[in-house]
Amino acid sequence: MVVAGGGPTGLMLAGELALAGVDVAIVERRSSQDLIGSRAGGLHARTIEIFDQRGIADRFLSQGQVAQVAGFAWIRLDISDFPTRHNYGLALWQNQIERILAGWVGELGVPIYRGRDVRGFAQDDAGVDIEISDGESLRAHYLVGCDGGRSLIRKAAGIEFPGWDPTTSHLIAEVELAEEPEWGLRRDALGIHSLSRVEDGPVRVMVTEQRLGRTGEPTLRDLSEALVAVYGTDYGIHSPTWISRFTDTTRQAAAYRDGRVLLAGDAAHVHYPVGGQGLNTGVQDAANLG
Ligand SMILES: Cc1cc2nc3c(=O)[nH]c(=O)nc-3n(C[C@H](O)[C@H](O)[C@H](O)COP(=O)(O)OP(=O)(O)OC[C@H]3O[C@@H](n4cnc5c(N)ncnc54)[C@H](O)[C@@H]3O)c2cc1C
Repeated sequence: MVVAGGGPTGLMLAGELALAGVDVAIVERRSSQDLIGSRAGGLHARTIEIFDQRGIADRFLSQGQVAQVAGFAWIRLDISDFPTRHNYGLALWQNQIERILAGWVGELGVPIYRGRDVRGFAQDDAGVDIEISDGESLRAHYLVGCDGGRSLIRKAAGIEFPGWDPTTSHLIAEVELAEEPEWGLRRDALGIHSLSRVEDGPVRVMVTEQRLGRTGEPTLRDLSEALVAVYGTDYGIHSPTWISRFTDTTRQAAAYRDGRVLLAGDAAHVHYPVGGQGLNTGVQDAANLG
């Protein structure tokens, strides 16, 4: 079995398949494990339970901060009276979650072909030929697209990705500030904005944009303008380590399977990431599929 994409979904799925005795390999575009940007900030109780069933929950719990993280519409829900050993969530950044998963997958002997892209595939009754970027190809009984929201596997399989267009757009970034900002969450007519510090590191900014429909890579200037529109100042932002834009677009694949090609994680469904559960549902997808 070949898994395209070694994000949280692909890593979890490969681990599950290896435990089930399936010969599996991952093809991952990134040449290093390190993720640029912090992305997901933690695990929900159900995800921790699944890791517990695999005997690896402690690896995550020892690195993160246990907290009540469940919520709805920005209202915190306390689940400490739920009948589970893990009646809490865990604050832990996605790059650490992926590093721990990659360590587990490595112990299970799963090869990860890093720095290589899946370029396309052709399936027949007995298997799938998978073309990868170094000119080589792999033959497998099944191919699983765990290659994220812009999934090449989904597109090449001709699977539609219907959903809702965005109603709001946010910029998110890690930057340095010359001035002390207004820390924490601010809500106004435009939406939700926040400024927080990542441990001793950079400042994490999230700001709702005034206009929808901007395309292209967001710049420091876009971020400065968005901050000025909300706070009246950009606090002297400089030295961004990354800047990204996300919207509340919600989409779900019309089918999770076409013959010997399957989809999981963001390749199959994307939804609003703020306080969202993309990583968590990806891991849960992978556990179900495995
Ligand atoms: C700013 C931000 C904040 C977020 N906050 C949260 C949060 O708080 N909670 C939460 O649960 N989720 C959050 N998410 C969502 C979460 O990051 C995703 O849902 C999660 O990463 C999806 O995992 P995945 O493995 O399905 O896909 P991805 O993480 O996108 O992994 C796909 C992998 O496939 C690789 N790839 C892509 N194409 C190819 C190819 N052709 N060949 C080989 N490899 C390929 C990519 O390099 C990548 O490593 C956030 C996302 C963003 C952007």
